[in-house]
Amino acid sequence: MSSRPNQLAIETRVIHAGQQPDPLTGAVVQPIYTASTFVQDGIGKNKGYMYSRSGNPTRATLEACLADLEGGRAAYAFPTGLSAAATILELMDAGAHIVAHHDVYGGIYRLLSKVRNRSAGLKVDFVNFADVAALRRTVTAETRLLWFETPSNPLLEIVDIAEVVKIARERGALTVCDNTFSSPCCQRPLEMGVDIVMHSATKFLNGHSDLLAGVVALSNSVPDDLAEQLGFLQNSVGAVLDPVSCATLLRSLKTLAVRMDRHVENAARIAEFLDRNRARLGIERLIFPGLPDHPGHEIARRQMKGFGSMISFAVSGGQARANQVAQNLDLFAYAVSLGGVESLIQHPASMTHKVVPLEQREKLGITDNLLRVSVGIENAADLIADLERALSR
Ligand SMILES: *Cc1c(COP(=O)(O)O)cnc(C)c1O
Repeated sequence: MSSRPNQLAIETRVIHAGQQPDPLTGAVVQPIYTASTFVQDGIGKNKGYMYSRSGNPTRATLEACLADLEGGRAAYAFPTGLSAAATILELMDAGAHIVAHHDVYGGIYRLLSKVRNRSAGLKVDFVNFADVAALRRTVTAETRLLWFETPSNPLLEIVDIAEVVKIARERGALTVCDNTFSSPCCQRPLEMGVDIVMHSATKFLNGHSDLLAGVVALSNSVPDDLAEQLGFLQNSVGAVLDPVSCATLLRSLKTLAVRMDRHVENAARIAEFLDRNRARLGIERLIFPGLPDHPGHEIARRQMKGFGSMISFAVSGGQARANQVAQNLDLFAYAVSLGGVESLIQHPASMTHKVVPLEQREKLGITDNLLRVSVGIENAADLIADLERALSR
């Protein structure tokens, strides 16, 4: 979309950004161009498209919408969140030093420490980004990239985005924020100085648990050569989202703002209920950035709009009771993933974070009695009644 988008509110942009009625037919919804190849008008002459890996009109529409929503200069749509992350890492030269937050999505941890350390010689240090002094000690003049999530997964730690940006700029490193848990409705890292935002669009952006996708969005302040390089790498590696999924994601984005409002509201109500009944329901540890006792609460208030809809809690009675609680729930499906309209519950130590070595898990607090909830957009009272029943049995 040309000149207007950023003056409009996000509720409007999720519906209109990057999209106009189809000039050929007037269709109000973007056509799905499934063609793999496009007829050329002559040598060096085409209508902007040649081959769908290097460019596809449906994907271009989605990417324009996503760039607008994150407030960036460009966005790229990938088949999964991990392929988006892997392509960002292709920006690094072999042997580069990367510093990553110690609590990241298990798959990102695996990609960094079990794949790219070997295949690209990346040297990765994991450190607690919430500990600014420790971060300062770990980031050197050699460091090329700082990688973090906030809220993090599954411990919902809050990283001070402005502080990380400051350190990265002092040392000349790029910053990557995985904004999956917040979506651009709740948190806007590019507008806070982050260079690159990535998403598993599989989660809140799509929101219906029926598609895998990933996104990379680049800040307006990254140089032209970096933006060109990312497009070059996406085409070179071949990690592109297919046109049907692009159209599905465009459709899902239209309700992102209303979905996020309800997610945020439901999670706040559930966290408040669990907090009030901690002792009675046998909750040993309750983690939600919206609670005043969360160590990152003040920072979250500053840098987020709403606190997202992820809640983690550890139950008394160890793994056996954690399993029992998860199985006793009716409305919360026992499944990995998050950000869908339906509520989910999972056990990080045996599911999403199994790949993290036991010693590291224990150090972090990903204990055997920890459960992570993704609060959906069902009726909050129904969800609370379900939790009450499962936890008081
Ligand atoms: C799911 C997830 C990913 C990986 O995305 P996929 O779409 O599963 O490849 C990365 N980061 C976070 C925070 C996630 O939750």
